[in-house]
Amino acid sequence: MSARAKEEGRAGAVAARDDGSGPPWSAAPAPERAEAALVQARSTVPHAGPQAAPVARRGACPTLPEPMATGDGLLARLALAGPAAPGSLAALAGLALAHGNGILEVTARGKLQVRGLTAASAPAFAAAVGELGLPIREGLEVQASPLAGRDRRCAFDPRPLAAAIAAGARSGPASRVAPKVAVVVDGGGLLPLAGLPADIRLAPEADISPAGGGRSEHAGPPEAQDRPGGLVLSAGGRLVGRLPPAEAAAAVLALLGLLAEHGPAARMAALVGSGGAEGVALLRARLAAVAGFQPLEGPEPAAAAAEPLGLHPLEPGRFALGLAPAFGQMSAAALAALARAAAAHGADGIVPAPGRGLLVLGLLAGQAESLRALAAGLGFLADPADPRRRIAACPGAPACASGRLPARLLAEALAEAVAAVPAALPAGPTLHVSGCAKGCAHPAAAAITLVGLDAGAGLVLQGTACDAPRRLLPLDGLVPAVRRLLETDLG
Ligand code: SF4
Repeated sequence: MSARAKEEGRAGAVAARDDGSGPPWSAAPAPERAEAALVQARSTVPHAGPQAAPVARRGACPTLPEPMATGDGLLARLALAGPAAPGSLAALAGLALAHGNGILEVTARGKLQVRGLTAASAPAFAAAVGELGLPIREGLEVQASPLAGRDRRCAFDPRPLAAAIAAGARSGPASRVAPKVAVVVDGGGLLPLAGLPADIRLAPEADISPAGGGRSEHAGPPEAQDRPGGLVLSAGGRLVGRLPPAEAAAAVLALLGLLAEHGPAARMAALVGSGGAEGVALLRARLAAVAGFQPLEGPEPAAAAAEPLGLHPLEPGRFALGLAPAFGQMSAAALAALARAAAAHGADGIVPAPGRGLLVLGLLAGQAESLRALAAGLGFLADPADPRRRIAACPGAPACASGRLPARLLAEALAEAVAAVPAALPAGPTLHVSGCAKGCAHPAAAAITLVGLDAGAGLVLQGTACDAPRRLLPLDGLVPAVRRLLETDLG
């Protein structure tokens, strides 16, 4: 498809969403129409910067200096190591509108994405973001609990340990691991990271249990932070051993070095999985000299992902309000309005969270309730029971060049079907609408997956987007077809 044809396709899609014409699923709600208006407004903003942005190579993650080519331009991804000041987040939204197409996303791992940058605008965008004072995390992905430092139910503050691992991985063997290798340092507490995939995971001993996930709005009395206890180290989905916190950074760096020895694309799941018990033994042998290390056997306990939506108690009298943009996507105007409202309500920070969440920190209870209502008016989800939380959807066509169906627009329409049969699906995003077989929005299996194919939507039950579809569903009539499925096969 020519660049002009793509541009016309995008313009057509925006127009269809703006005036409510087009296929049935394109009847856009008010926030979507506001988004379309923003996209149009953005075309009047000149793109600056003579330098073309280097584009992320295949297999690497998009970053601020190296965005990734997608169907609607370049996509830059930012990971924050901690909360952003509301004003900085509002400024980021303004830059996304000035330099991109005004659409931002929160990913399943809790990163921010800015869409629709161009080769000319991306360097200027990166430079301007660098001036905002955001706590941008660079280098190896070492992820700590989003409420770390504020959640008194955390077993320990994971931030110093995460920082030590990140610093150690800037040089030496650990610096040579594959770009997508992820380390999780889970402090437990209200929003544990047990459901977040990781090559290497550290967690407090008490939280290595199937009950590790999903405690929030009505949590019990606070516990003391920084209970020293032992940490449990797992890798590639297998338990490796227990060790003292003081040894944890060195142990993780040693395992990263071992991983790097197996090649620039090596991942822990493959290293451990291919060797079975021997694979884990390989890791334990590398940790033999770690003081206090005790081997543990077995698979990492399965745990549901924590739900960021809702009210989470912080220090006495203060709360974090968990919100989420529908399907992870929001307009720059909505984010800027939310950030300004958060500041006006007394918030002292906003931090993205796994599960496509945004946590507004430091609110009094009354302020949180008022902000929750206001955020809902801006299109943010505030209720964990919202049916849209049970649907994962990638941008799909036309935003992604690989998209064979308009995944997000379909997902909006399908939310009604999910709402109509609330008991049909288990909790979590188990209806997956994927623009193509890559399955970016939800790599795991889902109860129902609709995957974009040239001839329509492929239907996969209890599988992933790359599994062979059972049958093909035509796009017109898709919503009633899914409703029937929910009411019969899964009801
Ligand atoms: S699943 Fe396919 S269509 Fe959707 S974002 Fe990924 S590559 Fe694009």
